[in-house]
Amino acid sequence: MTGTERENCELAIIGGGPAGLAAATLAARLGVETVLFDEQPAPGGQVYRNIEANSRETGLLTPILGADYARGLDLVRAFRASGAGFEPMSAVWQVAANGKVGISRDERACLVRARRVILATGAMERPVPVPGWTLPGVIGVGAIQTLMKASGIIPDRPVVLAGSGPLLYLVAFQLAKAGAPLQAVVDTSGGSLASAARQALPILAGFAGDLLKGLSWIAALKARGIALYRGGYLSIEGVSRVEAVSFRSGGRRIRIATALLALHEGVIPNNQITTSLRCQHAWDRTQLAWRPETDAFGATTSPLVAVAGDGAGIAGARAAVHRGRLAALDAAFRLGRISRNERDDRARADRQALLREARFRSFLDRIYRPSEAMRRLDDETIVCRCEEVTAGELRQLIGEGFSDVNQLKSFSRCGMGQCQGRMCAGTIGRLLADETKADIADMGQYRLRIPVKPLPLAELAALGNADRNSGPVLEVADGDPSQRI
Ligand SMILES: Cc1cc2nc3c(=O)[nH]c(=O)nc-3n(C[C@H](O)[C@H](O)[C@H](O)COP(=O)(O)OP(=O)(O)OC[C@H]3O[C@@H](n4cnc5c(N)ncnc54)[C@H](O)[C@@H]3O)c2cc1C
Repeated sequence: MTGTERENCELAIIGGGPAGLAAATLAARLGVETVLFDEQPAPGGQVYRNIEANSRETGLLTPILGADYARGLDLVRAFRASGAGFEPMSAVWQVAANGKVGISRDERACLVRARRVILATGAMERPVPVPGWTLPGVIGVGAIQTLMKASGIIPDRPVVLAGSGPLLYLVAFQLAKAGAPLQAVVDTSGGSLASAARQALPILAGFAGDLLKGLSWIAALKARGIALYRGGYLSIEGVSRVEAVSFRSGGRRIRIATALLALHEGVIPNNQITTSLRCQHAWDRTQLAWRPETDAFGATTSPLVAVAGDGAGIAGARAAVHRGRLAALDAAFRLGRISRNERDDRARADRQALLREARFRSFLDRIYRPSEAMRRLDDETIVCRCEEVTAGELRQLIGEGFSDVNQLKSFSRCGMGQCQGRMCAGTIGRLLADETKADIADMGQYRLRIPVKPLPLAELAALGNADRNSGPVLEVADGDPSQRI
């Protein structure tokens, strides 16, 4: 049975990365009727994207993408053997508070009612709105890696990577191994990894392998003669496409002519569904992002819905597995498959492992905190890519007295485009806080409306006709009946 034919399931899991895979595997083993939905064609998520195919035609990508990537195969195999259902190419455009999950697959929309939902929608790259970031030829570092994993596509022209975060060096290392013409890596984070690691030695005991791995990527890039800079205050030049990037480094300005520039400022939780559900969120002052508030098992303030993995706050792929398992144990308890005691006993090992992971994450968060030098919002910088709203236009509205992100959205259309605010939600709050000298945590979030993924009107209309007798198709989180369709 496919997603468009299925009407009910006990547990719906959205997202097939390490969190969703681990959750589905354990829940199915505990006897819960589980279905995992993912918009991708195969399980793996961001980190293990396309792992089955890349391992089968082996040789090519796994040695380039590394042993950490290859490790994902065990997770996928366990999931495949678990008995959990899998619905690939299924974009989830709604999760309602009553458990109705809206899916678009094969150009058809459908609704599946789940008794419990685990959101394992992972992370997305933090948008980097600097002047010129919308020029053709400027993309995300994660996007380069996605092309490599999904299709084996390697840049055929010289590429510059700029920004900060572990993914910057990992992707640079993978590109170099793949033979891509890597021109330079510009690290915009403040300090040096080696000296930060020395200072943090007491809390880092047990993570020598991770640290050495990071240092070895940098050493390998140096050994290949790739130019590594520490820099900031990027300027992107170009008229109809990127032509050069310049930045300040060691007291001088460096300019590199390039036709391909990849930017990266870490990753943030992909929390559109919890936002559309009006779950309680908290502003994370270290990771500089909103994350849903959860209990120790990932349960949100929406009674049927839990979050596992990076969607609940960035913690990495290993932690995602433990968070997935914890959410699955809680689901099995709530669905009557195991007792509270059994849930708590089984949870102990995952909790311990998570505490350990948290130590390393706090180190990474500190050294890779997005730098002010990459957070400049000149007036001409486009904040909302979909509706082409600039920082200057928003500043003008703020100057006229607009003091709320949703007011700004209504009057400027910032956040009303196809991506539903994914690209501008963080920036608009920051701009408002900076201009009004207020705390960003008080700026609130967009009131996000479903569908959270683009949904053709024809699909929605067909669903409305088919579903006419089973209640409203679209459920609005705040229950406003005038908004029901
Ligand atoms: C572009 C990118 C590349 C990364 N590469 C690496 C890496 O190489 N190594 C590393 O250690 N970490 C990497 N990370 C970080 C890494 O993603 C996480 O630490 C880890 O994968 C989190 O696992 P997860 O299970 O929470 O989510 P993810 O692995 O992100 O999986 C989430 C899944 O949810 C699906 N999904 C999301 N929304 C919907 C929806 N509405 N409908 C249907 N499906 C949906 C996505 O298709 C995806 O498959 C990367 C992050 C990004 C953004």
